Amino acid sequence: LEDDEMETSDIQIFYKEESECQNLSQNSCPSSEVSHIYTPVKPRNYQLELALPAKEGKNTIICAPTGCGKTFVSLLICEHHLKKFPQGQKGKVVFFAVQLPVYEQQKSVFSNYFERLGYKVAGVSGATSENVSVKQIVENNDIIILTPQILVNSLKNGTIPSLSVFTLMIFDECHNTGKHHPYNMIMFNYLDQKLGGSSDPLPQVIGLTASVGIGDAKSTAEAVEYICRLCASLDTSVIATVKDNLEELEEIVYKPQKFFRKVESRTTDRFKCIISQLMRETESLAKSIFDEIGTITLEGISQIQNREFGTQKYEQWIVTVQKACTVFQLPDKDEESRICKALFLYTSHLRKYNDALIINEHARMKDALDYLKDFFTNVRAAGFDEIEQDLTRRFEEKLQKLESVSMDPSNENPKLKDLCFILQEEYHLNPESRTILFVKTRALVDALKKWIEENSELSFLKPGILTGRGKTNQNTGMTLPAQKCALDAFRTNGDKKILIATSVADEGIDIAECNLVILYEYVGNVIKMIQTRGRGRARGSKCFLLTSNAVVIEKEKINIYKEKMMNDSISMLQTWNEAVFKEKVLQIQIQEKVIRDRQGKVEPVPDKENKKLLCRKCKAFACYTVDIRVVEECHYTVVGDAFRKCFVSKLHPKPKSFGYFEKRAKIFCARPNCSHDWGIHVKYKIFEIPVIKIESFVVEDIATGAQKLYAKWKDFHFEKIPFDAKEMSK
Ligand SMILES: [Zn+2]
Repeated sequence: LEDDEMETSDIQIFYKEESECQNLSQNSCPSSEVSHIYTPVKPRNYQLELALPAKEGKNTIICAPTGCGKTFVSLLICEHHLKKFPQGQKGKVVFFAVQLPVYEQQKSVFSNYFERLGYKVAGVSGATSENVSVKQIVENNDIIILTPQILVNSLKNGTIPSLSVFTLMIFDECHNTGKHHPYNMIMFNYLDQKLGGSSDPLPQVIGLTASVGIGDAKSTAEAVEYICRLCASLDTSVIATVKDNLEELEEIVYKPQKFFRKVESRTTDRFKCIISQLMRETESLAKSIFDEIGTITLEGISQIQNREFGTQKYEQWIVTVQKACTVFQLPDKDEESRICKALFLYTSHLRKYNDALIINEHARMKDALDYLKDFFTNVRAAGFDEIEQDLTRRFEEKLQKLESVSMDPSNENPKLKDLCFILQEEYHLNPESRTILFVKTRALVDALKKWIEENSELSFLKPGILTGRGKTNQNTGMTLPAQKCALDAFRTNGDKKILIATSVADEGIDIAECNLVILYEYVGNVIKMIQTRGRGRARGSKCFLLTSNAVVIEKEKINIYKEKMMNDSISMLQTWNEAVFKEKVLQIQIQEKVIRDRQGKVEPVPDKENKKLLCRKCKAFACYTVDIRVVEECHYTVVGDAFRKCFVSKLHPKPKSFGYFEKRAKIFCARPNCSHDWGIHVKYKIFEIPVIKIESFVVEDIATGAQKLYAKWKDFHFEKIPFDAKEMSK
């Protein structure tokens, strides 16, 4: 149910490196011989060092660079743990992986390693949980691999009564243990049991990470505090890092050389002049609408000041304005509909123009122009009312000029020349180089791909692309199989020498051969930076940061500084007396539990007043909240024939099945000239029902007329009546 995935899950699936198996020990051989992973191998000294505190039974966070073989360390710990039990007693290990590809990989590594030792290994992930009994799997196996949400659910519904069934819990990528992440939900349960004075034994807790992070810490003292809080969340008493065997570690995990390159933007930019003029015109058209209303001004809507065309700030401004415009109210409802729709169109066009300016800034003018031409083609194909015709005419008047400006070689983007220069240089030095190029937005991924393909000096690179699965309102994400396909093509096809990716695809991609990482106008947080580095692990690998913005270079230097602060803080904590550290951790845990218990009591009270849902674009009445039913706890449908007249449906371009659902069509506002996207039409069991998304509507209080916007159903607290098959059959 792709259209609704946004409603129910905030977690994105990232790719995690799989190449740790090539790195398991010092006698590992070339990666083509996969079988060596599963035969007994000799651990490296630093791996033994990392495993030591955990083998002594201490709750440990193991913090070591990506690519050093943390998986193997966890196998060592696990094996030691299971073997230490005397006859008649048994251990039970649970290993958590957040991302599906990691889950699959760990399941096969653990199965292969432990089944020959006579232990039983099994796994449950979100994809398989519907058909199996989690309880039985946990009872019948020695090692269980889980995606954490499965355990959260099982603890909640009582199929697993307590964490005491386990003797060891291992959290992969444990720096995620914070806020409402499922890792933290599991640890809340653990800590409630620990602090609640239960006499049942609790499992040992191990966390694995490349970087614990330091949040917003500005000093080493704040960083120490941040790390203590993470330790408190995982009930950690020791942070294990490599200290005695650093030389050996640095031979395995090579840090690429990092280069900062400040590049220049165009000195004059005629494309930007023309588009800015169009934006000023569109803004003043919007202003004249406000003059008609008379009570409010365009400038008065948003707090964001000093906006400039072609910036992220402008995008934020326009999004706020668009939201505010959808809740305008006038006594004359037809008038209200006309005005809201006009403002919706002006703001949508402004947003597209702003996008185009960003593309123009980082890629070619031609790419920015193509982006706009595509947009106007779509506008023509839909409603195409008077306002849209007017805006299209204004654009077309400038089109000739835009075309000629974008064809003019003197308007080439100097940043691209620099990027071209780096690529040529690196491929001249090493024709076998493999590159990953990170950019900020998906539109830029497409633009740079085209640029490489159409550039005779670079077309030999045969670029591939990789973007995240998450959706934005502008673009749909890549599906999991499509991501796998792109990665496989890059890995196995020697001709494909470069992969262009957005930041979302950034956590630990397995591209063992990759020796050149280019960050093109790109900045990430510390955790991201360390993992990006882990990727270019081949000796002689390089990492370039290319930007025209001195601030970006500054930020990256701050990231490096933060990494140092993190390492210093960990070293400092490691000098603390263990008892003192444990006491500090306990105090934090008690404080946090008090806060948690207090918050837990404030359940939102549903508002039982009936409300209207209006189309967010044209304000047409759609339905009442009393007619809404909740399907499978997270999907929302509307009952009754009246609603069926309010929408039209079009066959879905990508029909898909999901559980009991079969996605068949998309639905749109039935008003002529509106056609706003309202959601989808599905077959659910034997019923054909619409499924709507709240972000397409405005909620109006019938009594007061007050209007409100919600992005997610879970934020809208009305009386939610479950879907009832009997009611439908009536
Ligand atoms: Zn509408």
